[in-house]
Amino acid sequence: MYDIIILGSGPAGLTAALYAGRAKKKTLVLGGAQLGGQTATIAVLENYPGFNGSGPELINIMKTQAETFGAEIVFAGAKAVNRAQGTDNNFSVVADNGQTYESRAVIISTGASPRKLEIQGARELLGKGVSYCATCDGFFYNDKKVLVIGGGNSALNDALYLADLAAEVEILYRKPAFTRAEQVLVDRVMAKDNIECVFNTELAKISEIGDRKSEIGDYDLIATTTDGREIFCDGVFVAIGHEANTDYLPEDVKRDDMGRIVGPTLPDGMFAAGDVRAKRKMQVATAVGTGCESAMDAIAYLNTHK
Ligand code: NAP
Repeated sequence: MYDIIILGSGPAGLTAALYAGRAKKKTLVLGGAQLGGQTATIAVLENYPGFNGSGPELINIMKTQAETFGAEIVFAGAKAVNRAQGTDNNFSVVADNGQTYESRAVIISTGASPRKLEIQGARELLGKGVSYCATCDGFFYNDKKVLVIGGGNSALNDALYLADLAAEVEILYRKPAFTRAEQVLVDRVMAKDNIECVFNTELAKISEIGDRKSEIGDYDLIATTTDGREIFCDGVFVAIGHEANTDYLPEDVKRDDMGRIVGPTLPDGMFAAGDVRAKRKMQVATAVGTGCESAMDAIAYLNTHK
């Protein structure tokens, strides 16, 4: 039996774990399959104040700090969170490692995952040319030509990362100009010789080049735009936003169209932090802030509900 179970091991969850541990609450972090969530895929983290390094480096420091104050970390995901049977106040968390854990409070900080591109070929070619993680898969596209789909901070960051590996990077964005991404990233993209930005463009399908390879050259894929243009390339990196990982929550927890928790719909004793919260900016700095806040709320709740 734990005082607090924290779901997720990104910056929000690990900050909550640090605060819970320092308050001497018996704390379990169910960290998902991979430590750090989205932050673990950030190659260069430039906008977390006071820190200069990669996402994994920051996450490892946060993990060690949380463990120093007693937090226990298990790498499993939550499948369901409910009231524990026969109790009014305790929670039962069913994990995908076959275990069920109980606690008096729960912090939901399971973050978000990349939104999937729902066009012909995108699902079939996942891992065979289509990727949602430039820092994980970019290495395989040394000296190749890749496309990046999207126009937000993630797309521009991905394009900049890939430009140092690939021979050519083409960003396909459905709007006429980059208005959503940070200006510093837009400026860097514009200054890169091997990045081309193609606006007002969306993809309709992605296919393997097959027999046409001899006719076209040494590419692996054909990306066809909605206006019928064929772009020959070796990889397609998709960065079209994120959706919150909240499917396992009870149905009566209200969520927006991105799966993020809306308003005060969580039961007493359950708190939310990081990218699962609606109307929050998705930044490491804001995740840390809400992680701290949620832990302080959970600690106050435990201290007043003995
Ligand atoms: P985002 O800001 O929501 O951008 C998603 C992009 O994908 C938009 O340009 C959108 O186009 C496009 N898009 C959405 N659905 C599409 C579709 N079906 N087909 C083609 N394009 C589509 O998402 P994000 O870049 O993943 O960023 C998520 C959050 O994390 C943001 O708050 C962002 O600031 C933050 N973030 C911050 C940093 C950083 O601080 N450096 C880095 C990464 C992410 P429209 O513009 O037309 O809607």
